[in-house]
Amino acid sequence: MSGTQRRTALVTGGGSGIGRAIALRLAADGFATAVLDLDKDAAESVAGEARGSGHEAMAVAGVDVSDRVQVNAAFEVVRSAFGPVVTLVNNAGKSGFKEFLKITDASWDQIMAVNLSGPFYCCQAAIPDMIEAGWGRIVNISSSSAHSGQQYMTHYVSSKAGLIGLTKSLALEFGPKGITVNTVPPGFVDTPMLRGSEQRGLLGSSVEDIAAVTPVRRAGRPEDIAAACSFLVSEEAGYITGQIIGVNGGRNT
Ligand code: NAD
Repeated sequence: MSGTQRRTALVTGGGSGIGRAIALRLAADGFATAVLDLDKDAAESVAGEARGSGHEAMAVAGVDVSDRVQVNAAFEVVRSAFGPVVTLVNNAGKSGFKEFLKITDASWDQIMAVNLSGPFYCCQAAIPDMIEAGWGRIVNISSSSAHSGQQYMTHYVSSKAGLIGLTKSLALEFGPKGITVNTVPPGFVDTPMLRGSEQRGLLGSSVEDIAAVTPVRRAGRPEDIAAACSFLVSEEAGYITGQIIGVNGGRNT
């Protein structure tokens, strides 16, 4: 597949925050972009925003990445409209905050289902298209907390650490097929998820106070993560695979 041919990108959790920025960026980069989100209105709004800027985008709205049947159906819809899905960004995520001894089985299972099984299902849905094309790009949005650990977030951090393992293993298995698989672990990006944690007092401080002690002296922006994704899915990033590309203002080095 040449760099000038149309490519299809699918971004999970594309309706909000980091996923929204990634979807808008990939659409602006020329990908026919599918915005998949559990939140129907959010997915449609982002796809509409991209189309309003003259780019090609569609919503796959109301899809739960933790449900394989829904995932497979969504990929089929995107394939029919835009062609093989050769670029995938697994961004949809669910946060959680609980003392370890109080984490229930249900909460553990739900976070694992969204943050780890979701990417597993999406990768299994997309990789056959990528093999057929002899070209593919996968970026998994993990979390800097998987490197540092994070108290009261053991279920979330464990799921994101698993996503890093998924990334590295797929990179080895599918490198020979022209498919790269990398992970961007965001840290401290100003999104509804982060503001929600701030409002619940879970950051231990305000976003602004934490920004003041961050090496680059600001919170991350969703566009910072989108810029890294844009590069990782580009033609020229073809020799980068199995890597963890930290985008965190120097908070983790
Ligand atoms: P956000 O809450 O703003 O957006 C997440 C989106 O995912 C929402 O639109 C939501 O509807 C969607 N979603 C949630 N569960 C879903 C499901 N089961 N199926 C489909 N869609 C679903 O969050 P964000 O801050 O933009 O986070 C995006 C990703 O970045 C997440 O994976 C998150 O864990 C990761 N992350 C964020 C930060 C940060 O500082 N914001 C830090 C580390 C990691």
